[in-house]
Amino acid sequence: MKKGKKLYEGKAKIIYATQDKDLVIQYFKDDATAFNNQKKTTIDGKGVLNNRISEHILSNLSQIGIKNHLVKRLNMREQIVKLVEIIPIEFIVRNVATGSLTKRLGIEDGTVLKEPLIEYCLKDDKLGDPLIAEEHIYAFEWANKKEIEKVKKMILRINDFMIGMFRGIGIKLIDFKLEFGRLKVNGKNEIILADEISPDTCRLWDSITDKKLDKDRFRKDLGDLIPAYTEVAKRLGILHEQSNVSAVNVTQLSSVKKKSR
Ligand code: UDP
Repeated sequence: MKKGKKLYEGKAKIIYATQDKDLVIQYFKDDATAFNNQKKTTIDGKGVLNNRISEHILSNLSQIGIKNHLVKRLNMREQIVKLVEIIPIEFIVRNVATGSLTKRLGIEDGTVLKEPLIEYCLKDDKLGDPLIAEEHIYAFEWANKKEIEKVKKMILRINDFMIGMFRGIGIKLIDFKLEFGRLKVNGKNEIILADEISPDTCRLWDSITDKKLDKDRFRKDLGDLIPAYTEVAKRLGILHEQSNVSAVNVTQLSSVKKKSR
């Protein structure tokens, strides 16, 4: 698959065209940002781990019938994905209250929610991805009712599946962010899961110690982000127990792969 021109560059990924108009290449960068881009750095090897972890989760979701954009992983940093029209909403799914929810509403950190809570944020960096109500989505026609009903059903299945998958490897799924896109199939729009699911977009706490195994290690300056993401990948069975993936050898692997193409 030949990489064409850059179509879009986001905070953590780049999208490139391919010779197939329906497919694009999703490239995972090492850049880390938080607090609406105010805090930025590069963490060697993060993109490699997110590429692998997201591939693993999305292909498992495919197997339970959750349609998504992943076609296949190409190499250490790239995946071929279906080109979709992204719905400009970030769907936040919460099982335990933490992060912005606790700050906004004064809820005690770590409160277990009786039911999963879905929040909507407008995808707009300039506005700082503001929280919106479902009614705003319809008022400004960012999506229609039928689409949101479908998305909500998919979200609850994804959440159930992911809670179980992570529970099985000693990790609590606290919250996460999903994005969905429209795909034209036989002239009809279909809603499919897009973007990525990784420790950059989920909060993952060790079941026993509550150790944070996600991007909060960067947001809160806890350090050791690569060992934490590596731990998630190992527990998911993506990396072998004996492989000691450090930031250095992840990037080395990545450049070896690039040269061999
Ligand atoms: N999240 C994300 N991208 C965003 C905002 C949030 O992936 O632009 C994820 C975040 O990693 C967490 C969940 O969504 O797993 C809920 O995030 P929260 O609103 O608490 O964000 P905070 O402002 O605390 O980062």
